[in-house]
Amino acid sequence: MDISAAGAPDLSVVVPMYNEQDVVAVFVERLRPVLDGTGATYEVVAVDDGSRDRTARLLLDHARSWPQLRVVRLRRNSGHQAALTAGLHRSRGRWVVSIDADLQDPPEVIPEMLATARERGVDVVYGVRADRSTDTPFKRGTAGLYYRLMRRIVGADLPAQAGDFRLVSRDVVEVLRRLPERTPVYRLLVPSLGFAAAEVRYSRAVRAAGATKYPLRRMIALAWDSTANFTAAPLRLATWLGVVSFASCLVLAVLGLIAYADGATIPGWTSLFVAVLLFSAVQLICLGLLGEYVGRIYRTVQNRPTHLVGFDSAEVPDPPDVTGVEPTGVRDAPAVAVTGGRAGD
Ligand code: UDP
Ligand code: MG
Repeated sequence: MDISAAGAPDLSVVVPMYNEQDVVAVFVERLRPVLDGTGATYEVVAVDDGSRDRTARLLLDHARSWPQLRVVRLRRNSGHQAALTAGLHRSRGRWVVSIDADLQDPPEVIPEMLATARERGVDVVYGVRADRSTDTPFKRGTAGLYYRLMRRIVGADLPAQAGDFRLVSRDVVEVLRRLPERTPVYRLLVPSLGFAAAEVRYSRAVRAAGATKYPLRRMIALAWDSTANFTAAPLRLATWLGVVSFASCLVLAVLGLIAYADGATIPGWTSLFVAVLLFSAVQLICLGLLGEYVGRIYRTVQNRPTHLVGFDSAEVPDPPDVTGVEPTGVRDAPAVAVTGGRAGD
């Protein structure tokens, strides 16, 4: 779906909603004046993630008096990140903000994000939760652990405590749309692309109404998706186990032979003992080797770009100042080529 520049609004606000009938009215009431106040043209893409309550009905009712409100309904509950994918892929705005429906992320921060992106010429503005005192100690603890682990896996560029409240430019959305990943985790994927970014800090509020849609089961699923999407380290476990058992096999084999020479063993024990040790080590090493290749196949299937070109001085007559951290103005140049990224192209 290609969007003609003329029809595209300045801003799209993507809101995944699952069984959020209790917050729809308050959410609309808070969001609308904020967006009207920006003076920008906008659309709100509310993605109803297969709710079993009246969420979609209520949204459609609001859309009658709020023409900028679009309602996208998924046929079945597909999960927060999938709902975000649906919204991002269908958004048309020059800038796209994703925000939770429960008002834990204050909509009043959106104009600040937009202003930051425009003034500083960055492609991504993260909403960073500077204050999570309203979250339960359990949520704070698990979130702290999650962000620490992910920084180790994805790299230190990952903004800590940045969830899915963020603004991205159309260039970023286009890159995301081309990734064939089935289980994207946007809070890791977006920083890993390396677009120029800035942060806006805010305090996380309590849920406006209703209950969390992230039970422990979903939190664990998100953590596992995050890990498996970014590292093949768990596959390598077999290799390391194999190496360790091979080393201990050598030691134990020597001890076994000494016992044999001492005559302290029953016949047949030594050969059996050494064979079991050796072959289990060899099997683990082979499994690890398989894992290495499976990991590579997985990364190929993910088809992430190996690199994205910021600019090429042959195409941009006046390249931005590259000494600064943020290559400002890059995105307006026609040269922001998104490289398919296969090695050698
Ligand atoms: N959500 C969704 N599909 C799901 C679960 C959650 O679209 O299967 C939405 C939910 O309606 C909310 C956002 O994702 O807008 C974040 O969920 P929630 O506030 O329950 O998570 P928490 O803030 O408790 O981590
Ligand atoms: Mg929430």
